[in-house]
Amino acid sequence: MKTAIVTGGAGFMGSHLVDKLVNQGFFVAVIDNLATGTWDNLPGYGPDQILKLTWDITEYPSEEILPLNQADVIIHLASAASPVHYRRLALETLRVNSIGTENALRLARKFQARFVLGSTSEVYGDPQISPQPESYWGHVNPNGERACYDEGKRFGEALAMEYHRKFGIDLRILRFFNCYGPRMQSEDGRVVPNFVRQALQQEPLTVYGNGLQTRSFCYVSDEVEGIYQVIIKDNLSGEIFNIGNPEERTILDFAKVVAEIGGVTLKTEFRPLPADDPTNRCPNITKAKEFLGWSPKVSLEEGLVKTFAYFRQS
Ligand code: UDP
Repeated sequence: MKTAIVTGGAGFMGSHLVDKLVNQGFFVAVIDNLATGTWDNLPGYGPDQILKLTWDITEYPSEEILPLNQADVIIHLASAASPVHYRRLALETLRVNSIGTENALRLARKFQARFVLGSTSEVYGDPQISPQPESYWGHVNPNGERACYDEGKRFGEALAMEYHRKFGIDLRILRFFNCYGPRMQSEDGRVVPNFVRQALQQEPLTVYGNGLQTRSFCYVSDEVEGIYQVIIKDNLSGEIFNIGNPEERTILDFAKVVAEIGGVTLKTEFRPLPADDPTNRCPNITKAKEFLGWSPKVSLEEGLVKTFAYFRQS
């Protein structure tokens, strides 16, 4: 049986990945400090399937804390990811993406494990080209209100790449674009849970700015399949992949689809645009298609139906 370590595995995306890994026969050690995740996302597993470790990866876990003889792959996802959360947890976000990333890399060296770094489309900042290929260096405010996340992830990429160069770590970097689905917290502040909750409560959808900024929304099962392909495929060391859905929409357009799927008449309330909110975001996934044979399958409408169902019963 193969063993994986997933940091941030009690979070939204992390817990779906843990489900997938266990289904594929992995034993998974999940490390999470529960700052934004919850063990409720991973019910029903036995100790022969997952090890749940409530631990902050900014502290290196000793052998007593993490009693594993082997690990084949480490997937480092631990970090707040919602702009509202990473503003609130700005220092923690900087630390987990720097010190936490180095501790996860030290574990990869210790176990001689493959290392998959969860990075973000935020490394492109407010991009000046669209769609964004992996080769784009970005356009980022280095000390603005989103810098704790953007620059934290950029530092993490630089650090991981140096571990790859210096110590030969089998590294894969993934840049996630907006992802959504069940297990998002209804209060996490991101546009998908906000709009779905507001539609369910028959409230106006809060559109920030003029709503003409764009995003591309990837359903979580598609996202996890992309991550899984990167985990299992050989000969990808040092490679970087965008993982996201290339269908780009304005936020106003997205509000219309949410209202339609939610079965409500669209009402909007305009609010100020948060600082440094990117004007556009859309992945170029040519590389993922070519190297991984992966592309998203779930339409926005289909994904939103499932997301509404989750929010209705939670
Ligand atoms: N947004 C919005 N209304 C909301 C929440 C977010 O219009 O209630 C906008 C936000 O300004 C951004 C986009 O939706 O342009 C996506 O925001 P989110 O917080 O989901 O993630 P981001 O892509 O900015 O990291």
